[in-house]
Amino acid sequence: MISDDAAVTMQARIAALADFLGRHRRLLVLTGAGISTESGIPGYRDADGNWKGRKPIQHREYLDSHAVRQRYWARSMVGWPVVSRARPNAAHHALASLQHAGQVEMLVTQNVDGLHQAAGSTGVVELHGSIHFASCLSCGLRVSRQEVQHRLEARNPGFAGLTAAPAADGDARLERDDFDRVVVPDCLHCGGTLKPDVVFFGDSVPRERVEAVHAALARADALLVVGSSLMVYSGYRFCLAAVQQAKPIAALNLGMTRADGLLALKVSAPCGPALWQAVEALTGRTVPAGAGEAGGLAATP
Ligand SMILES: [Zn+2]
Repeated sequence: MISDDAAVTMQARIAALADFLGRHRRLLVLTGAGISTESGIPGYRDADGNWKGRKPIQHREYLDSHAVRQRYWARSMVGWPVVSRARPNAAHHALASLQHAGQVEMLVTQNVDGLHQAAGSTGVVELHGSIHFASCLSCGLRVSRQEVQHRLEARNPGFAGLTAAPAADGDARLERDDFDRVVVPDCLHCGGTLKPDVVFFGDSVPRERVEAVHAALARADALLVVGSSLMVYSGYRFCLAAVQQAKPIAALNLGMTRADGLLALKVSAPCGPALWQAVEALTGRTVPAGAGEAGGLAATP
């Protein structure tokens, strides 16, 4: 039960956010894992910015180790059904509405789940790539992750049908001692190694992607951060650049961020309700509810 004081405080925060959105009409928007948790996709970090569970996969070890790829694809195969069924929530829809109202210079996300596009946002820059595709490291052939799933399930019937809590990178929290039996999918064209089109930890975001965001920031009048603790430099660097250009930063995030000392406005709240209320107050348009408390996916135990 939310107390009256807490309700008043939350309304004041939402009003402050609506005010910020009203005063800055060319926003660079940067989103992170926190915007997708209400769609059933868990984040990497808790409210204090600490790691939850095991560390995610490292780029170098994926390239170097067949055993690591076996473990990755086994877990990914088990986690995929939840990720592929996830639907955008009110926060994704609110940002799509804000874009349709002409207030978003560019929408940039650290997420690989595709939920902004599913909500109707366009021109989305996916800093860390997309979990919906995989590419061959030898010939570059790109295939849909759904197609890879069919092959994984056909070749690994002993792992098909398992359930495990999903992890942020489309992975799953699955512990087995028989990952060495997993048949990993290779490129059907050349037999090369397939890798999901995501930037693993230890790899870097392609330079042209970063430059496109910096160019958009130069045109923007403010930076809005939604659902990111900014612990990863790939997002944090845009906060540093905004400060250098004397552009204000607002952050909506449940918990601390690495940029708390740089912010003009901080709203510590779940993304969905705060954002759609602020956007509705600003645009006068109703934001679709989407997934969320009522319609969202529950994380599988
Ligand atoms: Zn190939």
